[in-house]
Amino acid sequence: MPLLGSVVGTDPKAVRDWATREVESWKKALPLLAREELSVQLSLLLARWSITSKPNFLARTLPPEVTKDLLEGFDQAVLATVEQRTQLHFDDFSRTMLQLPVRHGGVGLSPSAETVPHAYVAGMAAAISGFLFHSSIMQQGHFNEVKETASMRKLEEIIQHHYPADSPIKLQDKRHMADLDSFAKHYCHSKHSTKLQSRLVTAFRDDKFAQIQANKDLSPHHRALLSSRANKQSTAAWRAFPLTAEYELTDDDATFMLEYATAASNPGYPERCSCNKSHFDLEHAVHCGPTKLQRHNMMQHRLVSFAREQALAVKQNPRLTVEDAKKILEPDVIFYFLPKPLETDVTVVNPCAPSWLQQTLIKAGTALHSQCQKKCKKYLDSALLHGHDFAPLGFETHGRFSQHVLDLLAKLASNTPDNVGYAIADMTLDLSLTLVRGNALCARRTLRHALRARDLLRSPLS
Ligand SMILES: [Zn+2]
Repeated sequence: MPLLGSVVGTDPKAVRDWATREVESWKKALPLLAREELSVQLSLLLARWSITSKPNFLARTLPPEVTKDLLEGFDQAVLATVEQRTQLHFDDFSRTMLQLPVRHGGVGLSPSAETVPHAYVAGMAAAISGFLFHSSIMQQGHFNEVKETASMRKLEEIIQHHYPADSPIKLQDKRHMADLDSFAKHYCHSKHSTKLQSRLVTAFRDDKFAQIQANKDLSPHHRALLSSRANKQSTAAWRAFPLTAEYELTDDDATFMLEYATAASNPGYPERCSCNKSHFDLEHAVHCGPTKLQRHNMMQHRLVSFAREQALAVKQNPRLTVEDAKKILEPDVIFYFLPKPLETDVTVVNPCAPSWLQQTLIKAGTALHSQCQKKCKKYLDSALLHGHDFAPLGFETHGRFSQHVLDLLAKLASNTPDNVGYAIADMTLDLSLTLVRGNALCARRTLRHALRARDLLRSPLS
């Protein structure tokens, strides 16, 4: 019998048939996400919501043997929809990045099927705290009879399989999962069962992430990518809702963001870059050629407009060519804070470029730190001479900001009352998306040149 969005009953086949019909009805909505009328950015947000939120209630209320296969099929259908909408293909490592939670640097399309045992345990804990605690069963010592029911035996089997004392899943509550008596005694209090699913799934995914990091077969580039994306600023862009123009990405930019973040392979790319220094891939494309100056200027303009919005006087020096930028010793932007103006230089570095890869592998963020130190050496003395401060405003192409950027945003936000100007989170997200747009611009330009060079090689006379 369907009840409150799930189903209850003693006929396993009828329960399974109901759940199958329910999941099939979700699949019917997926072709809408693959339509071109829906932007790629929105399609990704909806795909993430579909794969995480929608199956949750079913997984909490029905045992894993009913939900696991069904949700595996649904997870596959969601991924196929994303592939269809973006025309990208995800396998091996790129699929790992696609499925990693956002907080681990992934895209967050985490499979719902793999967490069904944990969702079921949490659902049972909630049922126990909501029902047994208030009933006479516990108080009159009838719990031994309840323990013999099929759903309680299933619960015991799951907790003993997934959370034995020696399991690698790190969870404080494990000692309460030794057997059904300890479980019921602890989780009949709602203060313990509340948010249990989030704690269980977090512990499960943290363990999975540790296993991925420990995988010795991971290539240096993939390892560097993994560590470069697991930070707050890199992950911010996945949470952007396109409610205003600043937070909206074109389909090309959103598809680039997905491809660059997951290192998805693209068979349409030429083998070599037109610079002849490297094979062609997006990692090379975001820092080859002069378009990176445009990315630099885009970041600079956003910072200047934040300052103007916060009613702060600024002076900026335009950079017109890469050579110009290398020679000139003047700072990019001077922010006229009191009592000391702040001179700044905007710099973007690719932590996965061959020249930085080893440093990134030793410690994530080292490329950014080194680049900022270099900028300090170049500009600090001259700033001090003018009685100013200096801060290098560093960004990594994969999204990390230097502490100086975060400090500047905090300073700008504190310059105005709460109801005026931008909040720190707004400015951070804006910069993250500007960086994506700038990277995409560089990559598209490099790709066009590489394709042209390939065609010239193929037919030199035409
Ligand atoms: Zn190149």
